Amino acid sequence: MHVLILGGTTEARRLAENLAAGTRPDLRVTNSLAGRVGAPRLPPGEVRVGGFGGAEGLARWLREHRVDVFVDATHPFAGTVSFNAARAAAVTGVPLLALRRPGWAPVEGDVWHETGSLEEAAGLLPSLGRRVFLTTGRLGLAAFAALEDLWFLVRSVDPPGAPAPARMEVLLDRGPFTLQGERELLLRHAIDVVVTKDSGGRATAPKLTAAREAGLPVVVVRRPPVPAGVPVVTDPGAAVDWITERLRPGTSPARTEP
Ligand code: NAP
Repeated sequence: MHVLILGGTTEARRLAENLAAGTRPDLRVTNSLAGRVGAPRLPPGEVRVGGFGGAEGLARWLREHRVDVFVDATHPFAGTVSFNAARAAAVTGVPLLALRRPGWAPVEGDVWHETGSLEEAAGLLPSLGRRVFLTTGRLGLAAFAALEDLWFLVRSVDPPGAPAPARMEVLLDRGPFTLQGERELLLRHAIDVVVTKDSGGRATAPKLTAAREAGLPVVVVRRPPVPAGVPVVTDPGAAVDWITERLRPGTSPARTEP
């Protein structure tokens, strides 16, 4: 039985760990990573790195490697690969599950400005502050490049490339982050506005608490939707249950032969 996990997230790694610790020695697990991060934390099981070549390439891969079920456990903002996965599932008939950590929700005291895109977030910033803590990842910096009057503290796992804001300091770091660390960061850099994607999860949430405590506005970029028709679970345990149910002896996952 072959399970493919489209990964690059903590949840994907947890799912692979849960499957490796399970009671199915006949289970073959392949983890797929995009290859964006220089030194990724590797999950147990086989690991392949790099794109498939769109939905068609992914469908071909599913067939050639006789995948029985696959899980889209990519980041909530990795919209292209999620769309491709849904297309490939429709074409091949290989059952697909989306594993998405829940998004964040504002609590009392939060001053959130929700936007639909990085560009919209950039449009809001000049009215909210001058010193920005930007945590939306190194790949979306172009959206903020024209904001020459603002200063940015950009935190990312790997160094960003151009185009990027002219007035910027880069902090290379990877979560989990602590509340105390985030409080100190905001103070040290005299931050007056924070920008984040609604990534969800605990590892990067302390910045929201620190911003709330300091009374700072937070621009929150909303997630793209999960493609229609793809079932969704929010934790790796539920994904294991879904996989186990589909691979129960006597049940055969639907698969359309090429
Ligand atoms: P994306 O825009 O949805 O994907 C762009 C292309 O990268 C896809 O079309 C696909 O290429 C390839 N790709 C993406 N994820 C892949 C995977 N797990 N395995 C193989 N190929 C993959 O994705 P992204 O936003 O660039 O994110 C790339 C990876 O970083 C994802 O695995 C995601 O989980 C992780 N990540 C993303 C974010 C974020 O904020 N976007 C944050 C943390 C981690 P082909 O079309 O050639 O197959």
